[in-house]
Amino acid sequence: MKALVYTAPNEVTYRDEPAPSRAAGDVLIAIDAVGICGSDMHAYHGRDPRRVPPLILGHELVGRIVEGPDAGRRVTVNPLITCGVCDYCRQGRDNLCANRTMIGMTRAGGFAELMTTAAASVIEIPQDMPNRSAALTEPAATALHAIAAASRALARPLPEASVVVLGGGAIGMLATLLLRHYGVRRIDVGETNAARRQALAHATGADVYDPQQTTAAANSADLIIDAVGAIATRAAALAAVKPGGVVVHVGLADWASEIDMRKLTLAEITLIGTYTYTTADLRATVRALYDGAFGDLAWVDERPLAEGAAAFRDLHEGRSAAAKILLRPQ
Ligand SMILES: [Zn+2]
Ligand SMILES: [Zn+2]
Repeated sequence: MKALVYTAPNEVTYRDEPAPSRAAGDVLIAIDAVGICGSDMHAYHGRDPRRVPPLILGHELVGRIVEGPDAGRRVTVNPLITCGVCDYCRQGRDNLCANRTMIGMTRAGGFAELMTTAAASVIEIPQDMPNRSAALTEPAATALHAIAAASRALARPLPEASVVVLGGGAIGMLATLLLRHYGVRRIDVGETNAARRQALAHATGADVYDPQQTTAAANSADLIIDAVGAIATRAAALAAVKPGGVVVHVGLADWASEIDMRKLTLAEITLIGTYTYTTADLRATVRALYDGAFGDLAWVDERPLAEGAAAFRDLHEGRSAAAKILLRPQ
């Protein structure tokens, strides 16, 4: 089969790979579309010690089961393969599963014609769901999970909140679209890439700004969603949040930094880390995407998998206005 293989830092190679063989309990999936994630870019840059070349990356996919239970069905998958029996899985917090593994990380991912994964991690989709929306399930679920956590922590209903989203990549874009759909009226999005700012304003109607030129005003927003997670964005988030407000930390560009614990304490800021999504979030996201809660997704770029190396380069060099590029193996 053809696959796009991460072969070395800053290098992905489109080449022939042996087709995967299906183990017991797995399904074999023929991939129709697969998105390039920020975490794939992180791996590509050689900055993810968990993703070691040579490796087929990719975990945001839609395809058809060709072998295994429910063969013939179009599906998406939970990229996290969880044990189903640990305390977290039993609580429905399977994103925290103590025994989790992940496609495109601990096993081959979706930048290929074929991929295997655990049958238990298959997520059903309506059979007429377009590839474009189905392939966005994973990043959209990350946004949905983060906003759900924020909603639980805010003192007042979410639509009343003024929100700042830091980062206009896929998570920032999808979070902004969902906030809009939920009825949030005041959203500012900070994004350094001018082309992305324009695409974001067009797709969401939110106010956009360049964080290199201006910063969100101090104590100005009830909710900050940090979809970058860099040292600078964490500091900006803590500065911009109103007393009593909520900061949700979704991105993780930098692992550690100094936090303004004085403000956090005296102003009763709620700082929440969110990681991926639960199976319930993925199912809710499929329904939301299918019902159009994230809009028409016209901003998504689709390209052949064979041109994947150029897509990675475009993202690396900031040349793509699209917050998401999908690759199609066939
Ligand atoms: Zn992803
Ligand atoms: Zn578990």
